[in-house]
Amino acid sequence: MFSIFISLQNLDLLTIGIAIASIGILGFIVYSSNKNSVTNQSFLIFSFFTIVYGVLNYISYHISSPFLTLWALRFTIFAAVWHAFSFYRLFTVFPQEQIVFDFKYKKIILPLVIVCSLINLTPLSMQKIVMLGGSGEASQAQTGPGMALFGLLVAYLIISSIVSIVKNTLHSEGQKRDQYKFILIGTIITFSLLLCFNLLLPVVFNIVIFISLAPLFILPFVAFTSYAIMRYHLLDVKIIATEVLIFALSIGTLLEILLSETVTAAVIRFLIFLLILSLGILLDKSVRREVNQRVQLQKLTQELSQANDKLTALDKARAEFISIASHQLRTPPATLKWYLSAILAGDYGNVPESVSSPLKKAEQTNNLLISLIEDMLNVSRIERGTMEFLFEPVNVEELAKTTYEQLVPMASDKQLIFKYNPPAKPLPNIMADKEKLRQVINNLIDNAIKYTPHGSVTLSLSQDKGKVMFSVTDTGKGIAKGETKNIFQKYTRGKDSIMHSAGLGLGLYVAKIIVEQHKGKLWAESEGEGKGSTFIVSIPIKNNLKATSQIDLTKK
Ligand code: ADP
Repeated sequence: MFSIFISLQNLDLLTIGIAIASIGILGFIVYSSNKNSVTNQSFLIFSFFTIVYGVLNYISYHISSPFLTLWALRFTIFAAVWHAFSFYRLFTVFPQEQIVFDFKYKKIILPLVIVCSLINLTPLSMQKIVMLGGSGEASQAQTGPGMALFGLLVAYLIISSIVSIVKNTLHSEGQKRDQYKFILIGTIITFSLLLCFNLLLPVVFNIVIFISLAPLFILPFVAFTSYAIMRYHLLDVKIIATEVLIFALSIGTLLEILLSETVTAAVIRFLIFLLILSLGILLDKSVRREVNQRVQLQKLTQELSQANDKLTALDKARAEFISIASHQLRTPPATLKWYLSAILAGDYGNVPESVSSPLKKAEQTNNLLISLIEDMLNVSRIERGTMEFLFEPVNVEELAKTTYEQLVPMASDKQLIFKYNPPAKPLPNIMADKEKLRQVINNLIDNAIKYTPHGSVTLSLSQDKGKVMFSVTDTGKGIAKGETKNIFQKYTRGKDSIMHSAGLGLGLYVAKIIVEQHKGKLWAESEGEGKGSTFIVSIPIKNNLKATSQIDLTKK
């Protein structure tokens, strides 16, 4: 039977043991995650010297021979120089993976560190023990001039590193700044603990029992720094942690075999060992697979978001170009339109028949150009969210009829039968933007005429279940199955549309958005190619629209 006494000494040994083991494991994990990185290497070196310094420091407080204590103290201050230097080195290289050390580092700091650490092993720093402390208490040594150099060098190494951490935290951006912030937090915690327990308490209150706990106080710094270094490689840590676990379990079960008292026990334990090992290997494989998949996924997501950013920028540039270009293009055809109609109206004298016919063709082509530019401007307004709507009570029947009448000449030019079916009973007024709705009806009839080589085009009005319905039916080229939805998309034209007319594939896109802003619907129906088509607009009579002047369509 064992009885366990937990004295303060046992407890501080246990605490230091755990702290040192944690520092060692963190150092190893950080190093293994990227062995070629000078930052990760420097972190391992720093962890190593933290451990060496911690162990020596502990020993020097717990031995009672003056000779051994003197040497333990000499080695402690020897290690302390290297410890401070490894801290300095870490922040000279962090967060780079490769670095060329500068003149100051190679020709001044490093030689000074070597000389100073060696001096610390000689009587130049510590001559002899003048007062031997008991176990866990500080001994006092007679010091020499070497101590001044030691103090200055360590102070320089530590203060300049902390200044560089603070500076970098303030001046860096994004990912780097986050990394520095973590290091700064760790540094603040560790140095506050060290200042309090290793300086304030011993010097002011003469309480020295916490001095040997230095590794515990350094642990927060090590933990935060390893997190900062590994932050963007945390997935690798998962693999390393799994492997450490499997290794520890395998070693544990292997030791159990060696400690078996009977052959049966040894065989059973051997089987358990094999089981654990094979399960461990399977676990490792699956963790690796999972991590690889996630890394791949992260990479793809990143690439996708970069591509998306590029596309958004391109789209913005395109929208801006269209907006500027169409504004500039608008004035010349408008002026041309004004002059052409004035000439044709005889304002500049009589126009002979031989001239008026080509002039009319020129006017038609110019009108087409104007409507193309208007479509582009509308799209640009939609994209920028600057399309304005002025809703007011509108007599739709009157609106439809006047639009129909304006287009009669265009239909008769193509020798099409162009019919108007009024509603069975008078329609109520609806809240609508008159000009925009006219544009929609005009566009649907215009398309019907464009895409119908012969036959008829019919505009019908009706009222159905609280809705006003317009429909434009033609006997033209029809729409292929499955295409009836696509034609409402931006810049989408039917495959043979170029043969029928000039256009950009914007008219239906704009029309649909206008109808939707009236809380209505616009859709197309067709039996298939060559079988004509019908475009239907339905708008609720009670659409509750207020006289709104502008709607931000970009937020749709
Ligand atoms: P555009 O007429 O400039 O091509 P629209 O957006 O007005 O642009 O129309 C998009 C496409 O829808 C047209 O290219 C055409 O293929 C198809 N389309 C539109 N109206 C009709 C119609 N009445 N009959 C057959 N196809 C049509």
